[in-house]
Amino acid sequence: MTRPIALYVHWPFCRSKCAYCAFNSVVRVLSRTQESAWVQAFLSSFDWHIQHILEGHTASYRPISLFFGGGTPSLLQPESLQQLISHMCALWSCQAESLEITLEANPETLTEERLQAFSQAGVNRLSLGIQALHPQDLAMLGRRHSLEQALQAVAWARNHIPNYNLDFIYHRPRQSLRAWRQELQHILALDAPHLSLYELTWEPGTPFALHQKELPATAAFFNLTHRVMQEAGYTAYEISNFCTPAHFCRHNLAYWRYQEYLGIGPGAHSRVEREGQRWALAAFAHGSAWRTSVARGTGGLATQSLLSPREQLIEHLCMGLRLEEGLCWDQLEHSAGPTEVAMLRHSPYLQKLQTLGVLLVTQQGARVSQENRAKVDGVLRYLDL
Ligand code: SF4
Repeated sequence: MTRPIALYVHWPFCRSKCAYCAFNSVVRVLSRTQESAWVQAFLSSFDWHIQHILEGHTASYRPISLFFGGGTPSLLQPESLQQLISHMCALWSCQAESLEITLEANPETLTEERLQAFSQAGVNRLSLGIQALHPQDLAMLGRRHSLEQALQAVAWARNHIPNYNLDFIYHRPRQSLRAWRQELQHILALDAPHLSLYELTWEPGTPFALHQKELPATAAFFNLTHRVMQEAGYTAYEISNFCTPAHFCRHNLAYWRYQEYLGIGPGAHSRVEREGQRWALAAFAHGSAWRTSVARGTGGLATQSLLSPREQLIEHLCMGLRLEEGLCWDQLEHSAGPTEVAMLRHSPYLQKLQTLGVLLVTQQGARVSQENRAKVDGVLRYLDL
């Protein structure tokens, strides 16, 4: 039987750094020659991982998705994306149409022609980073695009890659609940099949962290967002992700369901099973260290470590409890083993959360109740694993 696997490519380059960003990205504009050399390194790293991590057993796996994230992968030439997609499909003898192929994109990097070319290269899902519908907030966030460019990109996406997501950030500095409620109505008017609505996180070391004291933590923004989205008919299938029917992101669901995934590129992570054991892999985060490792024939891989049953239990819970569907005991047992799962199910902390109605526990699995979904992180801390 084949096992599903999600594939990720991390393109680490951006034109500038957004004020809130803690992703592994660097500001650099590549020439065509430099881009081509990077693409070759990605192809080599893919081959290396197939040989040394999956041990050539591509036939044991069924790729479900290919996700180009970053950084700003929409800076790539469509021909480069085509090369990467074709190579991956050739390795797995699969058709691009059978996969969910997502490209993260910033509006200012798109033209209608480029979007069409991305679609022809095999991209069938677009994730547009818009973040705000107010010009002054776009400037404050350090975004390079105007509101007009963002709205134009949405119109092109609708025509050429209709399976698209829009990313927004809420609870921004000086944003009131009332202002966010109004902005949400404008977002809903865009009629996107999928929306990622993230509460701003104050990443240490970013210019934004300086504002943190201005905004007390509150569940009000989270609860308002969920209420409005539910009324509009979107499913909150994950705490920050909302979709209309049949528009789940298959790639991200693989992470949240704790399935296997293989990440290629600087700073990319992977989780793969070998001989019944689960391994955590991390690539060199720095671009030059990653390129050196690829050139030396070690694939860009910095570390690989075997995960203990307890580590798998924690990772699986952290992912699965974010989902509306929650987690399934059988799948948790598959990763963490029966002993850890039995201990969890008999834990007084879990039973207390169940009594309080925070966790809904059945014979099949467990999930956080709708009214407590803002508290997922607190639930995990309370379980004291
Ligand atoms: S475009 Fe994305 S990855 Fe690049 S700096 Fe902005 S938030 Fe970070």
